[in-house]
Amino acid sequence: MSQTIAISAQNVIKAFGHGEHAVRALDDVSLDIRKGEFFTLLGPSGCGKTTLLRLIAGFEMPSGGTILLDGADITNLPPNKRPVNTVFQSYALFPHLTVAQNVAFGLEMLGKSKSEVSARVAEMLALVKLDHLAARKTSQLSGGQQQRVALARALAPQPKVLLLDEPLSALDLKLRKEMQIELKRLQLETGITFVFVTHDQEEALTMSDRIGVMSSGHLQQVGSPKEIYTRPRNRFVASFIGETNFLPATREALGYRLDCGIVVQAPASQAQRVTLTIRPEQLRLVPEAEGDVPVKITNLVYFGTDTHCHMSLPDGTEVVARLQSPSDGESGLQVGQGIGLRFLPGALQVLEE
Ligand code: ATP
Repeated sequence: MSQTIAISAQNVIKAFGHGEHAVRALDDVSLDIRKGEFFTLLGPSGCGKTTLLRLIAGFEMPSGGTILLDGADITNLPPNKRPVNTVFQSYALFPHLTVAQNVAFGLEMLGKSKSEVSARVAEMLALVKLDHLAARKTSQLSGGQQQRVALARALAPQPKVLLLDEPLSALDLKLRKEMQIELKRLQLETGITFVFVTHDQEEALTMSDRIGVMSSGHLQQVGSPKEIYTRPRNRFVASFIGETNFLPATREALGYRLDCGIVVQAPASQAQRVTLTIRPEQLRLVPEAEGDVPVKITNLVYFGTDTHCHMSLPDGTEVVARLQSPSDGESGLQVGQGIGLRFLPGALQVLEE
């Protein structure tokens, strides 16, 4: 099994400062990142994701716990002794050197022969599609081109793991979308394990093989984008990734009784009092008599392809459904209207608090 694990963080703790001013940036984090996967650390600002990346890189030492790479303990190795490279948000290129010289830099530091260096630089520039700019100074490149140079430079020494710290956040939206596809392609073509840090949930969902969702120094859930989206473990994960609805309920012999009195089906849980969750696109509007529960429409918001229909359940709980807008844009729904709400079978999930 350890053959397939690239990075293993075991009970990692990182505290900054002392006494009452101490901050636990990471509080007992254990995580296995598989070889060859695109793994994303996702969470809000301050949750500890950059700290975890810096510990893997060796820029910080943990206060407790162990970090393994390919099964070997690297916890106390300095950064330059780790087969790991980092791409920073700021790119950190050498502005006075050419594109080719920037990419060659790490290889020369490793003492590679001249012919080896130039062959590898050519290969890397072809990979990031910058062969035509090899002789250009990096100060004369666009943001997107600089990003490609940074990637080529980091990939050139063939690291076992590439760490990427919000590398796309300085780019405008259009370029960011292009680079998302480009990064994914680079990862697939090189087969190198990527560990990508972002606070952008859409970026995480579209690019990753697996995502680790973090908050307050804790790993909240690890899973594929689909698992995280469709089976969020707790309230934090459900609300951080996409929009969702929360329905307070009580467990009974035959299912869960929502606070509005209706009994619904959802996976088994230990707790008596629970919160159920369902995504807006998993709600259907039907004639009142055919619904699981009667609701009143409180607001309709038109988003082009979608219309968001806000409703209140009989106990006052607010929910939102995402409906595909009809081609003429007229849904036939009205604020104040009573209607039936149906939950897609199997869609209700139970959250741990
Ligand atoms: P962001 O997206 O804003 O970079 P993050 O999730 O990457 O946030 P970290 O940078 O890992 O979060 O920081 C986690 C916590 O540790 C924060 O509370 C931060 O203030 C604290 N922290 C990080 N580095 C240091 C440091 N060198 N000294 C003191 N506190 C630090």
